[in-house]
Amino acid sequence: MSLAERKSDVRIAVVTGGIGGIGTAICRRLISEGNRVVAVYHPLEEEKATEWCQDRQEEGLGINIIAGDVSNAADGMTMIDEIENQFGPVDILVNCAGITRDKTLKRMQTEHWEDVINTNLNSVYYVTKPVWEGMLERGFGRIINISSVNGQKGQFGQANYSAAKAGMHGFTMALAQEGAAKGITVNTVSPGYVETPMTLAMRDDIRESIISSIPMRRMAKPEEIASAVAFLAADESVYITGINLPVNGGLFIN
Ligand code: NAD
Repeated sequence: MSLAERKSDVRIAVVTGGIGGIGTAICRRLISEGNRVVAVYHPLEEEKATEWCQDRQEEGLGINIIAGDVSNAADGMTMIDEIENQFGPVDILVNCAGITRDKTLKRMQTEHWEDVINTNLNSVYYVTKPVWEGMLERGFGRIINISSVNGQKGQFGQANYSAAKAGMHGFTMALAQEGAAKGITVNTVSPGYVETPMTLAMRDDIRESIISSIPMRRMAKPEEIASAVAFLAADESVYITGINLPVNGGLFIN
């Protein structure tokens, strides 16, 4: 189905990790920009996803949710098939699902490495691959990969996470070149520390020491990451591709 053949010109946006802290803000913002949004949640989060969906409905936001383990190649493929059958071709894909398994290399076990690489990096291939051909055929697409400042500068205790997040941007730069003549842009957004349940749960002293190292002296609000995503997802951002957009309050400038 081409965009022109659809009943409306509403774009379909898929957000992996859509029910998480940053993902929720991205979903809200993409809806407010007029897109139809599908949030992907992990199959083990069924209960949380149902409540999340009800909360969005109470906010007056129409949203769709679908289960899928993005770290699994077959699941990525099936999930995109289901989305395209139910809602139509995917125009905007935000790869936002991610985990941490922080350990110094001395203590890191192979499973800590593999879990993070599979979830944060391999997933980007598993989910992007099945939407790519359709985007090429339709001559439109927006792929936005949510990386991290720690993929740009490295972080103690995060060899797995930093490698995966740096790898995401390698993928972005290569794919941007493959999509450039076809109306598809591929970009990375690299948040610094963001006020999400994960960072709010940190010990106060650790949180304070992180905040004091940020030139803006505060963490980002999830909405500030969502704003960067919405900018890159917009039709008029067509000439921006292959970039790594930092949203980090000056924490890392290069
Ligand atoms: P979060 O834990 O609130 O959200 C991540 C979501 O991804 C969760 O809903 C989780 O269930 C989902 N997910 C994890 N593994 C999955 C899988 N295999 N299949 C499907 N879904 C899966 O975290 P967040 O803070 O909202 O982070 C979102 C993204 O932003 C992540 O990629 C993270 O690495 C990145 N990031 C976060 C921060 C921060 O400070 N919070 C900073 C930089 C980058």
